[in-house]
Amino acid sequence: MSLYGTYDDANIFAKILRGEAPAVKVYEDDEALSFMDIFPQVRGHTLVIPKAVQARNFIELPPERMGAYMQRVQKVTRAVAEGLKPDGVRVMTFNGAASGQTIYHLHFHIYPIWQGAAERPHAAGKQADLAELRALADQIAAAIR
Ligand code: 5GP
Repeated sequence: MSLYGTYDDANIFAKILRGEAPAVKVYEDDEALSFMDIFPQVRGHTLVIPKAVQARNFIELPPERMGAYMQRVQKVTRAVAEGLKPDGVRVMTFNGAASGQTIYHLHFHIYPIWQGAAERPHAAGKQADLAELRALADQIAAAIR
């Protein structure tokens, strides 16, 4: 059922957008906000969320917002690649609990991949060190074009 439902504005990403919860920000404009994942699966795990829309997942984003949002996803992906110089980058979104979604405000994950580096479990484990996240966010932000 979680693939379908009603947007709940108490979700943590809505709180971050309203400034009610903290986030280590990478990039922000009128369309989207990007910040570091607090339970990173890999070093540099970054999220991009659309602003001013009640979309629980990719399916629910109004098509007229898609182009602008995906431009921001690409902008941050380029900056992750240029700023952190990984061997690869995975860009993905999960839709519904069965697919792995845990937060119901649309977001894309940007995972830099270094060959041979271990990946931690999804949305679990120990919260990352905020100073380390800030340093990574600064490296990515410096590569935003
Ligand atoms: P999903 O499981 O919905 O695809 O992804 C949600 C992501 O949000 C997970 O990777 C999880 O680690 C991350 N996350 C959960 N709570 C918070 C939070 O409070 N702040 C940040 N920055 N990330 C979070």
